[in-house]
Amino acid sequence: MDRRRFLTRAAAAAACPVCAAALAPGRPAGAAEAGGWSYGGATGPTAWGTLDPAWRTCTAGERQSPVDLSGATPSMMATPDIDWPAMPLVIANTGNTIAVEATAYATMGLGLEGARYRMTGFHFHHPSEHTVEGRGFPLEIHFMHEDELGGGFAIAAVFVRSGALNPTLQTIFQAMPAQAGERLSLPTLIPPRRLLPPDDERESFRYQGSLTRPPCTEAVRWLVFTHPIEAAPEQIEAFARLFPMNARPVQPLGRRYLLLDFF
Ligand SMILES: [Zn+2]
Repeated sequence: MDRRRFLTRAAAAAACPVCAAALAPGRPAGAAEAGGWSYGGATGPTAWGTLDPAWRTCTAGERQSPVDLSGATPSMMATPDIDWPAMPLVIANTGNTIAVEATAYATMGLGLEGARYRMTGFHFHHPSEHTVEGRGFPLEIHFMHEDELGGGFAIAAVFVRSGALNPTLQTIFQAMPAQAGERLSLPTLIPPRRLLPPDDERESFRYQGSLTRPPCTEAVRWLVFTHPIEAAPEQIEAFARLFPMNARPVQPLGRRYLLLDFF
């Protein structure tokens, strides 16, 4: 979708919050996530690659995510240019996570070549999918972006540790639907930027990987912030009650570079 069409949709969504769900790009309205995969048992992560021929990469791929983030090589990259405006809250229980959809034009620019990616939404994992030197966090947030020219993804990941109450997460978690397939559209404005570590703590791991759910597509530029944000224990528990376990286990890093960016 080009920028003008997206903006037209976003404008329509802003004018009619209830319509936003139907207008949100790329997702079936209302239904639970199709596909029959899960995080445990016969349809769990070790079986994903055999459940559907289109998901073979989940097993056969060599650049899979998540990974354990250790032994990173210090590097330097231009600060990611994050432009995420506040947006009306459209929130869905997909059956596998709580997903917040991007209802405004939000972008992230990465690297010196200035590649820009458009946010499609963000969602949560409990516990974290990535680990740092073998240690995980209670939650991980994935801010999903697609290449504006098509074909590639960039995901910014933020760890959440137990600590102070997080007001932005509170707004989101108070609205999260308990039933798979449920979707809500609220006029409440959500500022996704407030879910990032502070500006002076934007150090991040960077590597090339995949989507962490089927079809496990290997076209993802990962940016994982080293500094976690905080959420109160009761906020983490509220999410964990709905999703006791929605994290794919770590995959081998193999021959990939793992970089640690200082800005
Ligand atoms: Zn994710």
